[in-house]
Amino acid sequence: MNNYMDNMDNMDINELLDKSVKNLSSVGPAREKGFNSLDLFTFKDILYYFPRRYEDRKIFELDKIELHAVYALRLKIAAKPSATYLKGGLLPMLKFKATEVLADEFGVFSDNLNNIVNITFFHSDYLRNVFKPGDIYIFYGKVTGNLVEFDMVNPKFIPVKQDVETPRFYPIYKKNSKITQNVILKAVDIVLNFIEGHEGGLEIFPENILKKYKLCTLGEALRFIHRPRTAEELESAKRRLIFEEFFLYSLALEIIKDRRGEIPGYKYAGDIDMREFYDVLPFKLTGAQQRAIDEALADMRRGKPMSRLVQGDVGSGKTVIAAAAAYYACKNKTQAVMMAPTDILANQHFDSLSELFAMFDMRVCLLTGSLGAARKRETLKLIESGEADFIIGTHAVIQKSVKFKNLSLAVTDEQHRFGVNQRALISGKLNEQEIYPHALVMSATPIPRTLALIMYGDLDVSIVNESPPGRQRVDTFAVDGTYRERIYNFTRKLISEGGQVYIVCPLVGEDEDDESGDGSNISDMKSVKSYYKELSENIFPDISAGFVHGRLKASEKDAIMENFRLGEIKILVSTVVIEVGVNVPNAVLMIIENAERFGLSQLHQLRGRVGRGEKKSYCVLFSDNESESSKQRLDIMTKTNDGFEIAKKDIEIRGPGDLFGEKQSGSVTFKIADLAADTEILYMAAKAAKETVAENHDLFDENDGNNNNRLKQAVLKMFNSDNPDEQRKIAFN
Ligand code: ADP
Ligand code: MG
Repeated sequence: MNNYMDNMDNMDINELLDKSVKNLSSVGPAREKGFNSLDLFTFKDILYYFPRRYEDRKIFELDKIELHAVYALRLKIAAKPSATYLKGGLLPMLKFKATEVLADEFGVFSDNLNNIVNITFFHSDYLRNVFKPGDIYIFYGKVTGNLVEFDMVNPKFIPVKQDVETPRFYPIYKKNSKITQNVILKAVDIVLNFIEGHEGGLEIFPENILKKYKLCTLGEALRFIHRPRTAEELESAKRRLIFEEFFLYSLALEIIKDRRGEIPGYKYAGDIDMREFYDVLPFKLTGAQQRAIDEALADMRRGKPMSRLVQGDVGSGKTVIAAAAAYYACKNKTQAVMMAPTDILANQHFDSLSELFAMFDMRVCLLTGSLGAARKRETLKLIESGEADFIIGTHAVIQKSVKFKNLSLAVTDEQHRFGVNQRALISGKLNEQEIYPHALVMSATPIPRTLALIMYGDLDVSIVNESPPGRQRVDTFAVDGTYRERIYNFTRKLISEGGQVYIVCPLVGEDEDDESGDGSNISDMKSVKSYYKELSENIFPDISAGFVHGRLKASEKDAIMENFRLGEIKILVSTVVIEVGVNVPNAVLMIIENAERFGLSQLHQLRGRVGRGEKKSYCVLFSDNESESSKQRLDIMTKTNDGFEIAKKDIEIRGPGDLFGEKQSGSVTFKIADLAADTEILYMAAKAAKETVAENHDLFDENDGNNNNRLKQAVLKMFNSDNPDEQRKIAFN
């Protein structure tokens, strides 16, 4: 039996947490669907559905506030609410007076009758009987008024109970149209009640780790993260949960490192003379490219599986490095696969590489989720029979249905964290001696060295620190809307000289949700659809424009990208779907609207779409945001073109900190930890993981009998979560 379930109590709680949300008393079929639409299926999902933010309802005294800002006030209802019926309104407007209640350092209340607040509620008749004179409430909302009396309209409120501390931090969960904030609050409360008294059964860390790193228990952390009473509780919960995520991640890396030496890599029959390949390239390799290729090939010639990261700034020419490795594999009569994060990118690689490989009679196949059924079937057959030499695609290439004949190389483009190969190692059968394909990971995400060491602890790194010759710096300007006219004139001029232009907007259409939830005003944001309309009807009616965004069908996206590539479309209005990897060397101008909405590294990636040819290129960052931090960030973009420099600054000033944003992350995403902001905890957790593996060398042996097995389960779960079959799949032979 699994000895991590070492007593019944523990088993109970973990089994209970696996139960479906429909077992919650208040949940019927409709609500169950609602929960599912938030990716909440089990009690455990609810337990781990952390608030996205907290309202700090620290109680302020009225004498210390500034008008027109949001505060929590402690007030006593002074009079029964009076109702006024407004013209045309069905429900009355309620109004009542409340007076301030002060608390001394011992928490003893006293009335301060000098400060009076007029509270108004619209359309809330039921409140008429809720507020009784003499009751004390905490009201939370914007305070307006004048020096004599204050006003609050539709504030949020919680009753103050004798001797019960009212929580200061009020959790705000991500909700949707089906599930309200209140429903989530209640569900979380119920599940928190379940775990009470069973916390021991949840804990995955042994006592000594908790002690040594001063971590609260998992039970405490879960309670504190949902219902923090103080800033300290919240801090301690976050610290524990972040530590846990990093620890498990680091543990996985340590295990991979440990195992890598033991697993045979693909052994090729003979060596290959690469000259033939270099000769057909339309350019001469840079020194850095040649070095990276040599390093990769040296790995592939050894008996061990390659695990190499090629890191190079946008436009440094990483594709040809992957191509060289693939050529080596295919020339050796084995298969190579390259996985790209988007359809657009997979298509682009397919287009450019199939021509190149055709010169050597090597067959390149495209495999994406959007292929038609017939074509897909045919492609799968080619892969299985071995007729396909080089397979390029999206995540579709690691689906169960894909059976390679003899894969020896797996490339992942623009994807950091775990390469496919690593994931197979960790989630596949750990002790089975299989032959793993060589793994090459290409990434433009500039990661500071120390961080890279931990993140890619198990990878060897090649740095491509040289641009192809003839490249010029992309001149970058940060401007506000008053420059629009001038920029459009400039756009016209560049197009008349034969160039092409990207315009990136934050939204797809006007009707969109504000997904960032930061309260910014959507109506101020540019959307692809309306921008395109405006451009093609009013601003540049004489210039061919097109638009592309993530919600289009893949075939539609392809067609548009193809037309842009061919130069038939001069202006491409787009969302960030073109952020990564897209290569149209004739594009010379990148205009980014609402630039303050994007992280620095994301801006850098976007800017990397221009300056890819020999023509002088430009980037314009439009922003009407007045805030200092926003100006400062955009200013950095105008001063440097160096991705590493930008990443460093990004971390320093911590804007939205999207350096490791989900879009670019590989398969493991951290729920709560933030690689950029929580580096200190990361270092600590990495150290702890190292020690743990050193002390329990056989931690991950199938037959070990020690209690640390809970850690093992946790690591496996972390990687199994998004479909174990797919992950194991790539470890075929
Ligand atoms: P990234 O590193 O961003 O993936 P790509 O591989 O897409 O960069 O290359 C960017 C552009 O530079 C492509 O148009 C490619 O053909 C070109 N390129 C790559 N290497 C060289 C080189 N050594 N000399 C000239 N052009 C090159
Ligand atoms: Mg690339």
